[in-house]
Amino acid sequence: MTTLDQLIRNLTRLPGIGRKSAARIAYYLLRADRQFNADLAREIAELKERIRECSICGNYTEVDPCEICTDPRRDRSVLCVVEQSQDIQTIEATREYSGLFHVLNGVISPIDGIGPDDLTFGKLEKRISENDIAEIIIATNPTVEGDATAMYLVRMFANSGISLSRLASGLPVGGDLEYADRLTLARSIKGRIPLK
Ligand SMILES: [Zn+2]
Repeated sequence: MTTLDQLIRNLTRLPGIGRKSAARIAYYLLRADRQFNADLAREIAELKERIRECSICGNYTEVDPCEICTDPRRDRSVLCVVEQSQDIQTIEATREYSGLFHVLNGVISPIDGIGPDDLTFGKLEKRISENDIAEIIIATNPTVEGDATAMYLVRMFANSGISLSRLASGLPVGGDLEYADRLTLARSIKGRIPLK
């Protein structure tokens, strides 16, 4: 297998990249200048070395704790619970939210063998017992698994004084937060539905 074939094969493993797109990218890189290719290769190689998960919230960050966790202007009484780190960026882009985050690293999904112990609920419980949290906004995706995870959170904090809410409708059912447009997401944060 040639270097070009190997590259095309690896590129098809990336999300959203089919064989045609992979070939287009590979041929583009073949024509691109050396410096661009070298920078790109270096950035990919350094990604895992430089970027880690924030030890507090789970956000991807180059400094630990992350810039959101250490920002004195953030409202420390509100926690927004998201499925994955990249959801934080999506919510931050709306500029509608100023509290802190908690990344679950997935959702409860019995079919995939993912139970509560595989997610960061334990860490969340600890955070909440050690900090003064008044509200939790659940921003799991509007999917069956996202719903089950939201219900699990409601049960988890049923006997606490914390109010829980979920992002309002308007988000595409069965879809992902990252595909919601900014305005829809901003509206769904403002109009979040109280669960408890
Ligand atoms: Zn953080």
